[in-house]
Amino acid sequence: MKPFNATPPLIDADALVKKDQSRLIHPHLPGDSTERVVVVEGDGCRLRDAHGREYLDATGGLMLAHVGHGRRELIEAAAGQMSQLAYYSSFHEFTNAPSIHLAERLIELAPAPMERVYFTSGGAEAVDAALRMARLYHHRRGEPERTWVLARNFGYHGITYGGAAATGFPMFHQGFGPMMPNVRHLTPPMPFHPELYGGEDPTEFCLRELRETIEEIGAERIAVMIGEPILGVAGVVEPPADYWPRVRELLSAHGILLILDEVITSFGRIGRWFAAEALGVAPDFVVTAKGLTSGYVPLGALLVADRVADVVTRDEGFVGGYTYSGHPTACAVALENLAIVEREDLLTAATDVGGHLGARLRRLEELPIVGQVRQVGMMIAVELTRDPDTGEPLSAEWVPPLVRERAGVIVRNNPNAVLLSPPLVMSHDEADRVAAAVADVLTERATRSTRRKALPATPAPSVLDAA
Ligand code: PLP
Repeated sequence: MKPFNATPPLIDADALVKKDQSRLIHPHLPGDSTERVVVVEGDGCRLRDAHGREYLDATGGLMLAHVGHGRRELIEAAAGQMSQLAYYSSFHEFTNAPSIHLAERLIELAPAPMERVYFTSGGAEAVDAALRMARLYHHRRGEPERTWVLARNFGYHGITYGGAAATGFPMFHQGFGPMMPNVRHLTPPMPFHPELYGGEDPTEFCLRELRETIEEIGAERIAVMIGEPILGVAGVVEPPADYWPRVRELLSAHGILLILDEVITSFGRIGRWFAAEALGVAPDFVVTAKGLTSGYVPLGALLVADRVADVVTRDEGFVGGYTYSGHPTACAVALENLAIVEREDLLTAATDVGGHLGARLRRLEELPIVGQVRQVGMMIAVELTRDPDTGEPLSAEWVPPLVRERAGVIVRNNPNAVLLSPPLVMSHDEADRVAAAVADVLTERATRSTRRKALPATPAPSVLDAA
């Protein structure tokens, strides 16, 4: 492991923080917050801030950084491509070699037969492109009234207007005026929350709800359904094995397309190239981003199945593109990033270290404030239950700042779960440090209470509050 620069760069950290407070709008940060971490350097799973403090990155930023920070190969891939051709448009007949090679590689890796790739700058743009293509597909085939989109509560698909409309957390809709119309949110199977299904089996409930919704809206008006194969932001929720195959069967019977949003789950995060490999379904679209470049440069990609690609590329082609679609430097970095994932067998590493970290964290299920620890590869959620003192649903908001302050470990949270998604290159020792840091604060919180033994071991329904 290389040491961080012995002499910190000449940065006046306090001055930067002050400027940040008056100049930047941060996602999800109140304007009057004085809290800032100015990250200046990264190496593997380690980060350093402008004040010289070191951290262990157990979130990979926002669930990416698969190959770790500071990888020379990616820096060289970017520099090599930039010195030849940093950028050119891919509109109309213009193209470039890195985007062609990357499209080929993605089609090789695809979890189902896919014919074409459409590049974007990130996940939400790719979600929008998939929604547009789905509607265009039906329009060109003589069914223009097929515009409805089926999405799911607790699904996250980014914050473009299309992505936000599909996202199933109301906080992304409230106050933003009319969303994209004709979107219906359904219930996903979340077996740990039986209260969602009124005593019915979760998959049966979801399939019945889907059937009834198709009947109510009319199959002839529905274009597509979108979902994450494993819910990510909602807290690493794997569906029962028969859920997606049965959903796919029902959709196919009604001519409805399927978009799998694999922005988090692709390129090794769960120990496979794509989650769809394990689902036993062939989607019409696969949305990817994040791990495609490990975050070194922004890039998203939409993989499109043959029958849809044939239709959306005919006539005048697919109308609409992004300035950075097929960006040569981003595609060159992605190619090298995928080569590293393969060369270093990071799919196996994700299963191995993820399993190790998951096993350590699972011990926390003994604590009365921990409901369930869910882990798939390097995607982990520690779902909290109830406040030991009040019996109210226990928010997870307080955990990340405390873990960072105490142990220099960075984790995230959703309303009621601590989320971990480290770089896939994390070592067992580092994983032990992460687990110990989380265990320390949760154990302290649980044992501080005087009422802990009287707590019911049922999940808190706070996840419902978001729906
Ligand atoms: N889809 C999923 C499943 C995601 O988790 C995210 C981001 O977290 C997105 C889409 C949006 O991606 P981006 O932020 O790159 O637009």
